[in-house]
Amino acid sequence: MSAAVLSRLNKSTVRIGDVPVGSGRPVLIAGPCAVEPDYVETAERLRLLGVDILRGCAFKPRTRPDSFQGMGAAGLELVTEARRRTGLPVVTEVMAPEDVPLVAAVADCLQIGSRNMQNFRLLVIAGESGLPVLLKRGFSATYDEWLAAAAYVEQTGNHQVILCERGIRTFEPRTRNTLDLSAVPVLRELTDLPVIVDPSHAAGRAALVPPLCRAALAVGADGLMVEAHPRPRESWCDAEQALSLEELGPIAGWLQDYPTAVVRRSG
Ligand code: PEP
Ligand code: MN
Repeated sequence: MSAAVLSRLNKSTVRIGDVPVGSGRPVLIAGPCAVEPDYVETAERLRLLGVDILRGCAFKPRTRPDSFQGMGAAGLELVTEARRRTGLPVVTEVMAPEDVPLVAAVADCLQIGSRNMQNFRLLVIAGESGLPVLLKRGFSATYDEWLAAAAYVEQTGNHQVILCERGIRTFEPRTRNTLDLSAVPVLRELTDLPVIVDPSHAAGRAALVPPLCRAALAVGADGLMVEAHPRPRESWCDAEQALSLEELGPIAGWLQDYPTAVVRRSG
């Protein structure tokens, strides 16, 4: 067996609820950018499509203070109900150390967003919750800075960290960010942690998301995180990049029967 295959087989697995991430079949995390009032119905439709893990944020880090900031505690109640009705685990964002207990009480995985990748106190408190942490790459962070941020979580004794490449800022204005797919094979050399790809925030445009999903799978990503909404144009947040549920369906289909042999050989 080649060293590359062995290194993939030795990779650590992180469990979100009862879904293993990093153990072979890439997982699909999907849902709207923000939790909205119809989140529970949306979640039920996502389950029927075969989504493994739900996403949806009740607390939204927004560049402008007059943008919708998320439903907050009311959104977390919808997360609880969506989880109960679908039986699926949920990943949702936590933005502040003082909110960790509130969010950790309902979530299966804490998302730490790009803008907070180096919020060191948040990393530590999130780590101490004992829940898995999905750590998004800061949009100007190097691989080493990203891994150092992950080490803050791991220093608490919590090794359940998933790294999420979501695009970096470059000189190119035609995409929201530039998806850096080199992150997947480079991080394979540097860490055992699972690496997933979020093409939605990288592309910023729905039409680009399916091809970038294929590319992420081709480089051996352990999963995809995709924004999807039942009526994308009406999405309260990140409407341009949201796939419709009809557009998400084929992506869920690719992943359900994904050939493990291909995944394991692609490292
Ligand atoms: C998100 O996942 O909704 C989000 C805000 O992503 P990022 O932190 O990558 O911008
Ligand atoms: Mn978003």
